[in-house]
Amino acid sequence: MNLLDLPPALWTETFQEKGEAAYRGRQVAHWLFKRLITEPAAMTNIPASTRSLLESDLSLAIPSLESAHQSVDGTRKLALRLSDGPVIESVLIPRKDRMTLCLSTQAGCGIGCRFCRTAAMGLIRNLTPSEILGQWVQAMRHLSATPGGMKEGPLIDHIVFMGMGEPLANLDALVPAIRSLTHPDGIGLSPRRITVSTSGLVPKMALLGEANLGIQLAVSLCAPDDLLRREIMPVGRIYSIAEILEACRRFPLRNRERVTFEYVLLRGKNDAPEQARALGRLLAPFRSKVNLIPFNPFPGSPFERPEEERVRSFADILSGFHITATVRKSMGPDVLAACGQLARDRGPETITTSHRETVS
Ligand code: SAH
Ligand code: SF4
Repeated sequence: MNLLDLPPALWTETFQEKGEAAYRGRQVAHWLFKRLITEPAAMTNIPASTRSLLESDLSLAIPSLESAHQSVDGTRKLALRLSDGPVIESVLIPRKDRMTLCLSTQAGCGIGCRFCRTAAMGLIRNLTPSEILGQWVQAMRHLSATPGGMKEGPLIDHIVFMGMGEPLANLDALVPAIRSLTHPDGIGLSPRRITVSTSGLVPKMALLGEANLGIQLAVSLCAPDDLLRREIMPVGRIYSIAEILEACRRFPLRNRERVTFEYVLLRGKNDAPEQARALGRLLAPFRSKVNLIPFNPFPGSPFERPEEERVRSFADILSGFHITATVRKSMGPDVLAACGQLARDRGPETITTSHRETVS
C-alpha cells in the first residue's frame, strides 16, 4: 500500500494496524511533507521496525523526475515518469508574489478538446493520489534545489489542477489528493488557494461540491453557444452550457468567491465581438469572472492565436457587461509549458534553458 494514497488523517491508525506506535505516522508525514524525504533509510528518528515496514508493506513511492525545462520567463516544466512507463508533466509558474504549481490528474486525457495538445494523446490512465502528490514533492525538491531535504517554509503557495487530464474524470484520486494538500499533517495549504478546472462534467461537479473541500472552481467554457462548443469541445454534446451554469450555481463557494470561466480564444472561431456580447449576456446574471486564454499553438495545431487587439476588445466588451475579464499571460510557451501544450515529449534529459523568443 502506498501511504500517499491515504489522507494523512489515516496515517496514524495505519501504522497502529501494522503494530507500530501511532505517532510514527506523524513522524513519517513530517519527513515526507516538511523535509521531502521518501527514503526510509534517511528518516533518522524512526526505529528499524518502522523503516522495514516502509520498505515492505507501506511505501512512499512517487513518480521519478525525468527532466526539467526552464523557460525564459522562469516557468519550469517538469516531466515525471510513472512506475509503469507513461510520462506526465507538471508546471511551476512563478509570479511576483506567488509560486503556482499546475498539476496533472491523468496521463493523457479522454475529453478530446480540439484546441488542446494533451487531447491527441488520448487517455492512457488515471493517476493515483500518490502520483498527484508526488508531483508536488518533486516540484518542491526541484525548487529547494537541495534534493532530499529543505529547511525553509512552503515554497509553493497556489495549486491549479490545470495540467494533463480532466480532474473530474478522476475524482477518486483528486479528492484524497486535495485532502492531503490541505490537511495540517499533510501539506497544509489553504483550500482557497487550490483551483480545480473542469471541461464541465456536470454530475461530477455536483459530487465535487458535495465533498465540501472549500476549493475554487474553474470551468472551461470556450464558446458562447452550444453549437460552437460541441464543435470544439466534444464533451459539449453530453452537457449543455445551461446545465453547466446550473451546476456552477450550486457549487459551494464562500461569500464573494466566484466561479472562473476559462475561454480559449481561437482566431476567427470564437473571438468575434458578437461572440463576446453573447458570452456577456450569458454570464452577466451570474457571479463569475472570465479568464481569456489566447490560444497557445503546438506542432500540428488546427487553430491560430488572435491578434492582441482582438483579445483586448473581447475583454473590453465583457467589461461592458460588468464581468471581470482577465487575459492569461502565456507562461513558458518556448518550452511547451503553457496551457494546452502539455503532452508526452521526448526532450533532453537534463535541465535546459530555452533561448527562443517568448510570446506572451
Ligand atoms: N482538463 C481541464 C484542465 C486542464 S486544461 C480543463 O479542460 O479545464 C487547462 C486550461 O487550458 C483549460 O481552460 C483549457 O481550455 C485551456 N487550454 C487547452 N488547450 C489550450 C491551448 N492550446 N491554448 C490555450 N489554452 C488551452
Ligand atoms: Fe482534456 Fe482539458 Fe485538454 Fe480538454 S482542455 S482535452 S479536458 S486537458
